[in-house]
Amino acid sequence: MARYTGPQCRLCRREGVKLFLKGERCYSDKCAVDRRKTAPGQHGARRGKLSDYGVQLREKQKIRRIYGVLEKQFRRTMAEATLSRGKTGEVLVQRLEMRLDSVILRLGLALSRNGARQLVRHNHIRVNDRLLNIPSALVSVGDKVTVGEATRSMPAVTLAQEVAKREGHAVPSWLKWDSSSFTGEVLSKPQRDEVPLPVKEQLVVELYSK
Ligand code: SF4
Repeated sequence: MARYTGPQCRLCRREGVKLFLKGERCYSDKCAVDRRKTAPGQHGARRGKLSDYGVQLREKQKIRRIYGVLEKQFRRTMAEATLSRGKTGEVLVQRLEMRLDSVILRLGLALSRNGARQLVRHNHIRVNDRLLNIPSALVSVGDKVTVGEATRSMPAVTLAQEVAKREGHAVPSWLKWDSSSFTGEVLSKPQRDEVPLPVKEQLVVELYSK
C-alpha cells in the first residue's frame, strides 16, 4: 500500500501540533514544531484566519497524517464509517485505531507509526498465531497479537518500550499486554475517550457530508 514518503516534520508544522511521526526525535528538543512555530513555506508566517471549510479541511488532514493514510484510503474508511451503526465520527476513529499498525503502536512496540508498519510488513507480527503483514488490516475484539521470538530483543523494539516507559505511555484499557509472552489482546473496541487524538472528528464528518 502506498504511503507518504516526504518530510514528516513539515506535516506537523503545517498542522501546528506535534503529530509524533518521527519516533524518539519527537520527544527531544530537536522537534521542529517546538523550534519553529510557523507553518512551512515562504508565506507560512503570514497565513491568516481560516474559513469554516479551511478548519474542516485541516482537521481531516491532521487525522489522515496522524494515521498515515492516503486520501483514497481515508475516503473509503470514511464511507465505511458512514454506513456503520453508531456516531460516524466515533466509528471513524475506532476503525483507524483498530488497524494493525495502530495496535502495535499502542502496545508500545514501535516509536512511530512508520516503525509499526515496518514491523508488520517485515513479518514480525502474528495475529491469532497466523502471520499478518498488512498494516491496514483491522483487528477484532478477542484477537491476539504476538511478536515473533527473534523480534522481541530487536533494538528498535527495546528502545520503543524504554521510551514508552520513560514518557509514561500506558497500554490503553481496550488492549491487554502480556510482557512474558509478548502478546497483546484486543479486549474491546476503543471508545473515543480512550483514544488520545487531538482532532475534532465531527468537523471531518461535516466536511464529507457536503
Ligand atoms: Fe512532528 Fe516529531 Fe518532527 Fe516534532 S519531531 S515535528 S512531533 S515529526
